[in-house]
This record gives sequence, structure tokens and C-alpha cells, in this order.
Amino acid sequence: MIVVIRPHAPANEIDEVIREVEVLGYAPAPIHGENQTVVAAIGDENSLPTLESLLAFPQVERVMRVQKRYRLSSREAHPAGSIVDVDGVAVGGPKFVLMAGPCSVESEKQLLETAFAVKDSGAVILRGGAYKPRTSPYEFQGLGPEGLRLLAKAKKETGLKIVTEVLSEFDVEKVAEVADILQVGARNCQNFQLLIACAKAKKPVLLKRGMSQRIEEWLLASEYLLANGNPKVLLCERGIRTFETYTRNTLDLAAVAIAKRESHLPVIVDPSQGCGRADLVITLCCGAISVGADGLIIEVHPNPAEALSDGQQQVNFKGFADLVRQIEPYLTAAKRK
Ligand code: PEP
Ligand code: MN
Repeated sequence: MIVVIRPHAPANEIDEVIREVEVLGYAPAPIHGENQTVVAAIGDENSLPTLESLLAFPQVERVMRVQKRYRLSSREAHPAGSIVDVDGVAVGGPKFVLMAGPCSVESEKQLLETAFAVKDSGAVILRGGAYKPRTSPYEFQGLGPEGLRLLAKAKKETGLKIVTEVLSEFDVEKVAEVADILQVGARNCQNFQLLIACAKAKKPVLLKRGMSQRIEEWLLASEYLLANGNPKVLLCERGIRTFETYTRNTLDLAAVAIAKRESHLPVIVDPSQGCGRADLVITLCCGAISVGADGLIIEVHPNPAEALSDGQQQVNFKGFADLVRQIEPYLTAAKRK
């Protein structure tokens, strides 16, 4: 770490800091400038205590880390991109992965029709929430166990893999019986007990970025999964909360490029929650591919006008088929299949 001492600090105060750096386990290497001293503290920041506590000394101006806080998800730890095996579907490899399906599982007819339609267009993973995290308790909360039963049926009939959200650490086992990917939603991205329970389930996890979560916090949330023994993590950018009102969220494509650079984990983009408007979904998919996403998760409904959740952002079957056609040149340009 780097400890910057305030200008013109007396020698005894500088020595006080140097002594403390040593007590905390680092080898201090002071650099005495004309007005100011900087102490390079040499040691493994990930196993030694942080020196940020030295800010308690009035003579310390700043303390900076050198190493990344997310050590397992960092690209430094694993320079090649990870490929996550979702029951035979490789995510993060040369093949771009399409996940699609309704926001919520509403009925057998709705789910099965959608599953067959998205499969016909090229999706390999079916999405659909059985448990829904709704802002209002009066809104549709999902079909729960019946929704899981329908997802299992859709999987059996179509062969599609399933991604579905788990809201509570107490539901992980039940959801993992049906899900090939456990989705941890934006509202739960720092529910650490849920993350630990998902890690223990050993199923791949799609970790949505929280709506006001910094990239570092998102990567540290992924670290909970990795550090608890589950390397099968997919990051998912789904838009962050900003001042803008023309869109529900602001899809942060820069974060996708940064996540790809900083981490070896595959990154999936959810343009549906990302903008909250069906008319923008295709455009954002093209952008997502261009910035290096490894896959997309798209909300598709037989008749979005009748959807029990998120109707405004779901595309219909024709919309999804158009989307798959329109992203083709972007996939070729990005050298993805
Ligand atoms: C969803 O995928 O329908 C959903 C609720 O996602 P998020 O957690 O990103 O809001
Ligand atoms: Mn939704």
C-alpha cells in the first residue's frame, strides 16, 4: 500500500507512521520528497490488515491500495477468460449465448409457447422468474413452487437449460433442483448469506449488478461466490439507477467493458431491465456485443401487453426473431459464433 504523509510533517510524526506500518506487518520503504514523504508499504495486502486505519493519524493524508480487493475474480489471478459450463452449454467461450424467456412464469401455456419460440430462434437457455422481487407487495409475486414445476416441464420438453431467480437463502436447494443457473437479482446482489448459500449449491450463478452498485462492489460480491467454493459465476449488467427518466435504468456498457478487462468471469447483458423499453432492446444488444459481452438475457412474452410483470420491456416472438437476425453482423464483427 502507499501511505502519503501530509506536507511538512515533523520527522517524529513520520517515524510514528513508519513504526506502525511495520507493526501491521509491512516492510516500510519511505521516499522523502522535498516537502512530503510517501511510505511504500511492501507486503501482501490481501493477507495483511489494511493500512487505511493509518488515516486515524492526523499526519496521514492518503492511503492507497496497490492490489485489487477481488483476488479470485480478478484477471490478474486468471489471465485467460473463464468458460462456465452450464450443464453442457459453455458460457464465455467463442459461442455467444442467448438466454430468453418471460420476466415471470405466468402459466403453462405462456411458458411452453415462449420456450419453443425462443428455442426456434436460437436461445439455448430459458429464463423465467418463479419467485419475483417486486417493489410493491401488491404486485404479482410469481407462482413460486408451481412456477418451478412449469420450468422443469419446459426444460424436459425443449431441452433448454433454465435460469431462474432465487430470492432467499432458504429457497436455494428447492430452486437449484430445477435451475441450471441460479439468478441472484439486482436487489439481492449484496445479500451475502444468499451468495454463500448459492456458492454451496455448486450450480452456476448469474450475478446481477445492483442498481447502485459500483463495479468494485459487484466484483467483490462475485468474490463471495468464488471464495466459498463456486467458480461458476456469470456477471450480469442490468442497468444502474441514474437521474434519467426516458429509460427505467441506464444500461452501463462501459461497466461491461471494464468487467471484461478487470475480471476473467463471463459477462452477460440484460438490456430488458437495462432500459425498461422493448423498442430499445435490439439496439442495446448490438452495443453489448460490441463491448465484449459473452451473452444476452432477454425478456420475451407471447403478448407483452398482458404480461403480469415488466410488460413494457418484453419483446414478442417476432421481436425476438428479429433481434436474433439483427445481431448477426455484430456477432461476426466481434468474432463470435
Ligand atoms: C428480472 O430478471 O426479471 C429481474 C427482476 O431482474 P433484476 O434483478 O435485474 O431487476
Ligand atoms: Mn423483469
